[in-house]
Amino acid sequence: MDSESEKHIHYYIREPEKFADKTVGVFGGGDSALDWALELAQQPNTHVKLVHRRNEFRGLESSIHQLKSLKNVEILTPYLPKVSSLVNNQLQIGLKQMGQSDIIQHSFDEIVVAYGFRANNNFVKQWGVDIAGGQIKVGQEMKTNVPGIYAVGDAATYPGRVPVIGLGFGEAQIAITSIMRSLFPEKTLTIHSTSI
Ligand SMILES: Cc1cc2nc3c(=O)[nH]c(=O)nc-3n(C[C@H](O)[C@H](O)[C@H](O)COP(=O)(O)OP(=O)(O)OC[C@H]3O[C@@H](n4cnc5c(N)ncnc54)[C@H](O)[C@@H]3O)c2cc1C
Repeated sequence: MDSESEKHIHYYIREPEKFADKTVGVFGGGDSALDWALELAQQPNTHVKLVHRRNEFRGLESSIHQLKSLKNVEILTPYLPKVSSLVNNQLQIGLKQMGQSDIIQHSFDEIVVAYGFRANNNFVKQWGVDIAGGQIKVGQEMKTNVPGIYAVGDAATYPGRVPVIGLGFGEAQIAITSIMRSLFPEKTLTIHSTSI
């Protein structure tokens, strides 16, 4: 893809209002894609095309319902973007239907790629810390297998963990309390989240 085409491709949006009056393709099927599609659909005269390679979305069901109810949102599934070219300052993208050889052409003024981020925790491996599926394995008190190293938040994993904000906050409190107890065993510690 040439540099002129790349100017129309975005991985993060700082000013949604700049997408007003445009046809915007949002590529992806998770929460990021759905949230961006909803946000952009609120801009005046914006037409949003949400493109995902499966008929099912990973993101929140209520967001999908909301998107389906909006007249300026078109949901295109199951399609994979394949070829692109820039014509009259618009990206012409060939969308290949999954499992078929058909390719349909769609035009976009701008594209938002929301396939998600993949955290690279490999550097932690060099410290001897156990990793599972790219995430840092922790046990009780958010301890890793290496004494003195703790992990919290979405980077950490243990059976049953779900990636939500509330858990990360709680885990930080558990880890800090554990660290303080090991550093100052003589002290009676009560640490409230508001004092962290
Ligand atoms: C679109 C979307 C919608 C969501 N909606 C909700 C919601 O409604 N409710 C909810 O509870 N949760 C929601 N979540 C999940 C929630 O955002 C995460 O669970 C939460 O942000 C995890 O916090 P964290 O601090 O563990 O990780 P992150 O928020 O991912 O923060 C990790 C930070 O570390 C940085 N980083 C990574 N590697 C390095 C490195 N090597 N060196 C330095 N810095 C590094 C990253 O850049 C990032 O800033 C949503 C997630 C997404 C993507």
